[in-house]
Amino acid sequence: MDYKELANLIFPEAKEISYYEEKYPERNLKEGAVVTRFAPSPTGFVHIGGLYQSLIAKKLTTQTEGVFFLRVEDTDQKREVENGVTGIVNALKDFVIVPDEGMISENEEKGDYGPYKQSLRKEIYQAYAKYLIEQGKAYPCFCTTEEIEEIRAKQEQAKIRPGYYGIWAKCRSYTVEEIAEKIKKGEKYIIRFKSPGREDRKIKHHDVIKGNVDFPENDQDVVIIKADGLPTYHFAHAIDDHLMRTTHVIRGDEWLSSIPLHLQLFHELGFKAPKYAHIAPIMKNDEGNKRKLSKRKDAEAAVSYYEEEGIPEEAVKEYLLNIANSNFENWRKANPEKAIEEFELQLNKMSVSGALFDMVKLLDVGKTVISRMTAEQVYEAAMVWAQKHDKELIKMLENKDYALKVLGIERGNKKPRKDISKWSEVKENIAYMYDEKFYEESQEYPYQVIHNKEEIQKILKMYIEKYFHEVDDKQQWFEQIKELASAMGYAKEVKEFKANPDQYKAHVGDVSTVLRVALTARTNTPDMYEIMQILGKDRIEKRFAKAIEEMEI
Ligand code: GLU
Repeated sequence: MDYKELANLIFPEAKEISYYEEKYPERNLKEGAVVTRFAPSPTGFVHIGGLYQSLIAKKLTTQTEGVFFLRVEDTDQKREVENGVTGIVNALKDFVIVPDEGMISENEEKGDYGPYKQSLRKEIYQAYAKYLIEQGKAYPCFCTTEEIEEIRAKQEQAKIRPGYYGIWAKCRSYTVEEIAEKIKKGEKYIIRFKSPGREDRKIKHHDVIKGNVDFPENDQDVVIIKADGLPTYHFAHAIDDHLMRTTHVIRGDEWLSSIPLHLQLFHELGFKAPKYAHIAPIMKNDEGNKRKLSKRKDAEAAVSYYEEEGIPEEAVKEYLLNIANSNFENWRKANPEKAIEEFELQLNKMSVSGALFDMVKLLDVGKTVISRMTAEQVYEAAMVWAQKHDKELIKMLENKDYALKVLGIERGNKKPRKDISKWSEVKENIAYMYDEKFYEESQEYPYQVIHNKEEIQKILKMYIEKYFHEVDDKQQWFEQIKELASAMGYAKEVKEFKANPDQYKAHVGDVSTVLRVALTARTNTPDMYEIMQILGKDRIEKRFAKAIEEMEI
């Protein structure tokens, strides 16, 4: 019996690999086009790090007119959850990172290089495993779990490297006849790769992100086909990324140490190895300690968190690009109006160690992103978010004309308002413009410099009775406030007050604050002139009356 016959005994049905090599030809793309993928397991959880990788992958393929595809790695069926693929597809959709090929729903896909779900590629992996067996580069291993544990215990005791390699690789030395006999007897087995490596030799590898790295060669006879007939990650990676004609494997740097094995697999299979770019994980500062964003400990590790909070997808993407390339910040300063699609991302400028995730900064980006939107866009996005998460906000937004006025305050001008960082802040942000909300509970009125009750009542009464007139612009409006201030012994200008503080009670800004607080129960609001325009005289009067009433209690 020879290897070929043995291979036939193990995988009688498997096709010749030439069938697949022809079925999935080299892609006909322009020079330099990047073909890459996002290859998650459908575990029901999409980590922000996965989104980060996808964003980078998508961007590079767009920049080079390449192909970005979504491959689902579901060979570990214990970890799988129902609708896991849908979760991934939707996460990418939410962030408008659209794959050109691959899974598009739980069971549907598009593209010519599929199936894009590994559990459907069983026969392909087996064909390549057969091919390796035929050449004596892979073999069945009959070791039981107990035997493997025994080997490990002995290695531990002798303080030597653990694993299935060299003299420890017991099943490596069976003859073809011995193997055939065991199989015929019905002994259970898995398939292992017969590593040609030696631990005392080094390999050199150039990683697109990590640069030059040296490793000892791989000498482990890793499992390539498991007892359930499905491949391990390592084997599936080699076969899939070869047949899908991936040019760049962009993945988390927890895989960097597997490089010696992966390069060896590509080599022994006769494949050209892709380029590798190992991305450092996103880190978090946890009371002075830098650690990976954790699925268990950090809500913001889940992609779903951003949708729930209503952080605009654009802001998340912009922030992630900030983390990805440090030159992004300067680019943004120089091009405040440009879409992030115009930024040229460079893989080799990515940081070698993990960047810190800074929620404050992300929310700040959120503010800028939202400040650039029109009232209509803010309205639409807030409504989409509200439909899912906030019934009360839907009700508030029901009167669209009014909502557009409120959301339009200080928007669309040169220095737009920058006070909303996420959609979950909209309600709180506009609540005072809604009488139902404003009168709902008794308000705290945070008066500042002028806090004397009589004085405040006087200012409010005077303003509404004597100084409130219909005006055409903000300047005229402010003139009235100045006159009111002056009539009551306050400086018309801050400058005047500063020059002669003894001559005045305070200044026009302090008078304005009284009006603002009485109107909104806040010290900080966008433009008061616009607020007053929207509220109109009756509502202003009513609010002042309430403010006075609250002071009398
Ligand atoms: N399924 C692997 C993971 O989720 C994919 C790694 C890769 O991109 O090759 O880590």
